[in-house]
Amino acid sequence: MNFDEEIFSELRLNVREFVRREVEPIAIKMDREDYFPEDVFRKMGHMGYLGITVPEEYGGSGLGYLGQAIVEEEIGYSSPPLALSYGAHSNLTLDNLYRNGNKEQRELYVPDLCTGRKIGSLGLTEPSSGSDALNMRTRAEISGEYFTLNGSKTYITNAPYSDIFLVYARTGEEHTAFVVLSDDKGFSRGKKFDKMGMRGSPTGEIFFDGIVLDKSRVIGEVNGGRNIILSGLNSERAILSFIFVGLAKRALEEATKYSIDRKQFGKSLYEFEMIQDKLAMMYSEYRAAKLLAYDALSSVENNNMDLKSAASSILYSAIVSERIAREAIQIMGGNGYMKDTGVERLLRDAILGQIGAGTTEIRKKLIAGALIKDIKKGRGIE
Ligand SMILES: Cc1cc2nc3c(=O)[nH]c(=O)nc-3n(C[C@H](O)[C@H](O)[C@H](O)COP(=O)(O)OP(=O)(O)OC[C@H]3O[C@@H](n4cnc5c(N)ncnc54)[C@H](O)[C@@H]3O)c2cc1C
Repeated sequence: MNFDEEIFSELRLNVREFVRREVEPIAIKMDREDYFPEDVFRKMGHMGYLGITVPEEYGGSGLGYLGQAIVEEEIGYSSPPLALSYGAHSNLTLDNLYRNGNKEQRELYVPDLCTGRKIGSLGLTEPSSGSDALNMRTRAEISGEYFTLNGSKTYITNAPYSDIFLVYARTGEEHTAFVVLSDDKGFSRGKKFDKMGMRGSPTGEIFFDGIVLDKSRVIGEVNGGRNIILSGLNSERAILSFIFVGLAKRALEEATKYSIDRKQFGKSLYEFEMIQDKLAMMYSEYRAAKLLAYDALSSVENNNMDLKSAASSILYSAIVSERIAREAIQIMGGNGYMKDTGVERLLRDAILGQIGAGTTEIRKKLIAGALIKDIKKGRGIE
C-alpha cells in the first residue's frame, strides 16, 4: 500500500481541516456533557467520510479502508468518542451491510447511511454474552416466510440515536444477521449508559419483543451469521486501532508542548533526563502502534485473513495509548490532573480500547492460539 498517494494526503488535510473547524471546538463539551453532536456526525456524511469504503454508485466515496483509517486517526486525535461512533457506524454497520447485503438491501440501506440521514449500529453483545459473543440468547424463530425476533442487546454504540441496526440472532443452533429498523413494531430502546470515558459517543440497550421480519431482512445466508461476524473482525480491529493511534499522538503533543513551557528549578521540564526518558518512550510506542496499525490495514486491504496482524494492532495500540495518556498527565503534574487541560479525558477514553470490540485478554488468547497453530503446522512466524 502506498501511503503517499496524493489522494490520501489530500484526504488527510481535508479531514484535519474538518476536525479543526467542527470537532475541536466541541470535544470538551462532548466529554463534560456526554453530548453527541448529531449535526457534526451528519456533516461527516456530506464530507464523504461515513460511506468512505462504499463505491460511488451506492453513495460512497470509494476510498477503501485506508481512507477510513485516516478519518479515524484524525478524528481520534481530537475526539476519540466521535471516532468511536464513526467506527461503529461506518465500519461495523455500513461497511458490513454493504459487503454482505444483496443489491436490493444495498439500495435500500446504504445511501442513507452514507449521507448520515440515517445512523447505524451493530448489535452483537448481550447482557449474558460479551466475550463469549456467539453464545447469544436473542432468537429468531422461523415460521413460513417470516422470522420472529426476541431478545436484547447491550452496550451498543450509537443505539440511542440509530435508525438501522445490524443484529445477530440465533436461528436454531446457528446464527443469522438481520436488519432491524427503529420503527419496527416490537423494537424499543433502553437507557443510555453513563460512562467513565468515550463520553459523547452514545451507548445503549435495545430490545426486540416479537419483531416480525420477512426474508428481505436477512443479511447474507440464513444460518450464515457466524461467517459475517468473523469476516468483519479483521477490518474492525485494524480500523478501530487508529482511534488509539490518534489519541496517543494528541497526548504526546500536549505533553511535549507542556515540557517546553513549564519551568521548574530554573529549567524547562524537557531538560530533565527523567522527562526526556518519558517523551522518548512515548514517541517510540506511538510510532510502533502507528506502524503496526498501517501494517494490519495493508493485510486487510490485501484480503490476508491472518488474524494475528489485526488483533495485535488493536491490542498494542490500546495498551500503549493508555500508557501514553497516563505519562502525559504525569509530565503535566497537577495541571494534567485538572479537567480544564483536557488531557485526563484521553486516559479515560483510552481505557475503552482494552474493553470494546473484544478485550485485551481475548485478543491475547487469539494471538497466542494462532501462534501455536502456526508452529504446530510447521509454519514460521513472520
Ligand atoms: C463503550 C462501549 C461500546 C461498545 N460498543 C459495542 C457495539 O457497538 N456493539 C456490540 O455488539 N458491543 C459493543 N460493546 C461491547 C463490547 O464488545 C464488550 O463489552 C466486550 O466484548 C467485553 O464483553 P463484556 O463486557 O461482557 O465482558 P466479559 O466478557 O464479561 O469479560 C469480563 C472480563 O473477563 C475477561 N474474560 C472473559 N473471557 C475470558 C477468557 N476466556 N480468558 C481470559 N479472560 C476472559 C475479559 O477479558 C474481561 O476482562 C461495547 C462496549 C463498550 C464498553
